[in-house]
Amino acid sequence: MTDLPTRRPIRELPDELISQIAAGEVVERPASVVRELVDNALDAGATQVTVRLLGGGVRLIAVEDDGIGIPPGELAQALKRHATSKIGNLAELEAVSTMGFRGEALAAIASVAEVSLLSRTDDAPHAWGLEARSGELAPGARQRGTTVEVRELFYATPARRKFLKSDSTELAHCIEAVRRHALARPGVGFAIWHEGKLVAQWRAALFDGIEATRARLADVLGEDFIAEALPLQWPADGSLARGLRVWGFAGVPDAARSRADQQFAYVNGRYVRDKVIGHAARAAYEDVLHGQRQPVYALYIDIDPARVDVNVHPTKIEVRFRDSREVHHAVQQAVQGALAVPRAGQLAAPAVATPEPIAAWTPPARQTGFGFVPREAEVGQRVSDVSVLWGGEAARGPLTGLSTGFDRLSPNGTSPDRPEPVEGLTAAPLPDGDWPLGRAIAQLQGIYVLAENAHGLVIVDMHAAHERIVYERLKRQLDARAVQSQPLLIPATFSATPEEVATAETAAPTLAALGLEVTPLSPRTLAVRAVPTTLAQGDPVALARSVLGELAQHEATQVLQRAEHELLATMACHGAVRANRRLTIDEMNALLRQMEVTERSDQCNHGRPTWRQLGLRELDALFLRGR
Ligand code: ADP
Ligand code: MG
Repeated sequence: MTDLPTRRPIRELPDELISQIAAGEVVERPASVVRELVDNALDAGATQVTVRLLGGGVRLIAVEDDGIGIPPGELAQALKRHATSKIGNLAELEAVSTMGFRGEALAAIASVAEVSLLSRTDDAPHAWGLEARSGELAPGARQRGTTVEVRELFYATPARRKFLKSDSTELAHCIEAVRRHALARPGVGFAIWHEGKLVAQWRAALFDGIEATRARLADVLGEDFIAEALPLQWPADGSLARGLRVWGFAGVPDAARSRADQQFAYVNGRYVRDKVIGHAARAAYEDVLHGQRQPVYALYIDIDPARVDVNVHPTKIEVRFRDSREVHHAVQQAVQGALAVPRAGQLAAPAVATPEPIAAWTPPARQTGFGFVPREAEVGQRVSDVSVLWGGEAARGPLTGLSTGFDRLSPNGTSPDRPEPVEGLTAAPLPDGDWPLGRAIAQLQGIYVLAENAHGLVIVDMHAAHERIVYERLKRQLDARAVQSQPLLIPATFSATPEEVATAETAAPTLAALGLEVTPLSPRTLAVRAVPTTLAQGDPVALARSVLGELAQHEATQVLQRAEHELLATMACHGAVRANRRLTIDEMNALLRQMEVTERSDQCNHGRPTWRQLGLRELDALFLRGR
């Protein structure tokens, strides 16, 4: 027999207890209080927010603003549960553009701490203060705006208090909470004091738009963040015509960190943790960042409020998009677009930043208007120009690879005395010009190309760089379903496993799409009859073997969709110039020029850098010059 519990009558909970329960969701630690109070200050139109803390925020959190203030008659109301000035009906909830709207933060905080308000509106002769616990209203002194003081957090709920960490940890969380606000509001000044000492201060920007955000990011996250971050924007014209735009900054792959502690995403100015955005950003880095490295970014998403539900989480840190695919696409495009531009070519392609008018439904207090010239289009332009100039695929005659099969590089990577031209690196002498990666001067140990530019010495890992160039070219061709193929004058035959023979037969259409023709000569022999033009200088047998190997692992019909990039990377590796291959100066220059216009060429296919600049200052330092 089981013991039945004693039944108690169903009763409504007292207000205080309801608020304490709500506080369980909203108020986890001092930083949660800081976030809610700064939210309120921003909603009140503050231009300066000052946070004063004692004991990591446990003993005191005071948030002071210069916003619109609260009239004395409404001070008590502000502390009530579900009391808000921000929405009044369902339509307003669905179009909400303020940070707060649930009307529960102050009530929840007041149920677990000692709260007092001091506020003054523009028209009032002086300020009024209210003690939450006693309900005592008294005249006070301050300028327009509001100060909310929260003392002895969790004084009545020792169980919660026990979960708090050291003062310095709680302080760090409080600073982080303000930092998240600060990155979205460059027009607002912030200051944080702890135990009477100023611990952080970010001044209000005097200008608008993306430049203000750039300055704030530099201020809050450090110059390093912004020095290594690329501006991004989707759609390319920065317009809100589609009711959605993404802008901000994405760190170059080199700036990636071991922790995901510099990934900021905002939806209509609200800091969010969102799987869709996070996944899209990660996907954009897929091709340039490998392993566990965490990219850094600050992404701002402006979206028609009707297309996002912000009322899905008590602290509003999560949102739900009506069409998450659309957001995923926009974020991925925006970040990918920024990363695709090779930095080597950027010296020659200045980004123009011209602020644009703020769109109709953007909340007036927020600065989101901006715009700059899309670089994607420019680069596309330059790629085609230069491939003609420098003998990219377009400029190569159909017979240039004829000797393939005779005079190839040997498998161990040593080069013959009279080197074959490297595909894509056939080059005219370098015309005069200010080339970002400079003029080639030498090759070092068969691995590095050395070049001289205005800043000093450029060092290029030639295999890594060429691999990326070949890979990107293959990708472009495959995307256009136009991989150029080149027949071998004498087919390259090799003895194959039964599995390889079977794959060659069943996957013939896929191979053809990849520019490969591999046919059985006998049950144990395959013949490579054509290879992609881009890879014509490589070893056709090694290429065929590795492609067949990859195809055998995947469903052949799906390999082009699912494993396309892996496959192309494998192929590119075969087509890229090997170590120890001696390059002529013209070939080295051609490699540099190709890098300048190839998307993602700052990293090889494995995410490692392809080039480094050694500036004159660094060289001078090596030789202790000028000291
Ligand atoms: P919510 O922000 O969801 O409306 P809160 O409990 O945080 O709920 O605040 C209740 C109300 O108190 C707000 O709607 C606003 O009218 C007023 N209020 C709170 N903080 C401030 C402030 N710093 N300046 C002006 N009004 C404020
Ligand atoms: Mg609020």
